[in-house]
Amino acid sequence: MDVHVKLERVTRKYDGITALREVTLEVKNGEILTIIGPNGAGKTTLLRVLALLDEPSSGKVVYRGQAVGGSNISQLRKKVTMVFQRAVLLNETVFENVAYGLKLRGLNNDEITERVNDALSSVMLKGFGPRMAKKLSGGEQQRVVLARALALNPELLLLDEPTANLDPTNAAIVERIIGGLRGRTTIVLATHNIFQAKRISDRVGCLLGGEVIDVDKPKNIFTKPKNEIIRKFVRGEFF
Ligand code: ATP
Repeated sequence: MDVHVKLERVTRKYDGITALREVTLEVKNGEILTIIGPNGAGKTTLLRVLALLDEPSSGKVVYRGQAVGGSNISQLRKKVTMVFQRAVLLNETVFENVAYGLKLRGLNNDEITERVNDALSSVMLKGFGPRMAKKLSGGEQQRVVLARALALNPELLLLDEPTANLDPTNAAIVERIIGGLRGRTTIVLATHNIFQAKRISDRVGCLLGGEVIDVDKPKNIFTKPKNEIIRKFVRGEFF
C-alpha cells in the first residue's frame, strides 16, 4: 500500500506545552488507522496536524509525496476533512448543513443536491433533508456531521472520537459507515474505546505523552503489547 500522508519528526508545541514530540508516522492509502491513548496524549493535536490545520513547530508533513508548506497548504486542505469531537451544526435544515461546505466550494445546485442526497443516504438519513438539524437526536446529529464531511469527498478523513456520547445502536451505525469507507477513503480516527479500535482498525497507533510508542496491526497491539505501558492501557489499568 502506498503512503498517503507521512509525518517526519513532527513536534507541536503550544505555549511551552509539547503536545507532540518527534512523531514519525506513515498513514497508508485507504487504511483505517486508529490512534489510541489516554486524555492529553496528543490525539487531537495529531489529527489537526494531519488535517493540515496546525503546522508543526518542527518536522515535516508529506502529503502524497509533496512536502506541505507555504503555497500548497490551501490547495491540499481541500483534499482533507476533519470531524471534530464537539462538532457544531448550523441552526438550519439538515440539507443546508450538509450543503454548507459545498456552497463554499462553489458547486452548482444540481451537484450540491446530488452530493447531499448521496451523503445522507450513506449515513442512513435519507429523507431527513428538510428537518431542522438541531432538533434531531444526538446520534442523528452526529450522522449529519459525518454526512457533511462525506459530501466533500475527502481523500483523507480525520475523525476525533466519532462515537463518543453515542448509544450503542448509533455507535454501531457510525462504525459501520466508517468501515464502509475502507479502501476508498484514508481514515485516521482517535478513540478511547479499545473495543472499537479492535473492531474497526487496519492498524492501531499508541500515543502517550505526545509520542507514538507503537503502530501495528490490532492483533499485535492487543495480544502482544510491546511494552508495559501499552499493556496497561489496553487492559484499562492505566492511571
Ligand atoms: P483528549 O483525549 O482529552 O481529547 P488528546 O489526546 O486529544 O486528549 P490533545 O487535545 O491533543 O490530547 O492535547 C495534548 C496536550 O496539548 C494537552 O496537554 C493539552 O492541554 C495541550 N493542548 C492542546 N491544544 C492546546 C492549545 N490550543 N493550547 C494550549 N495547549 C493545548
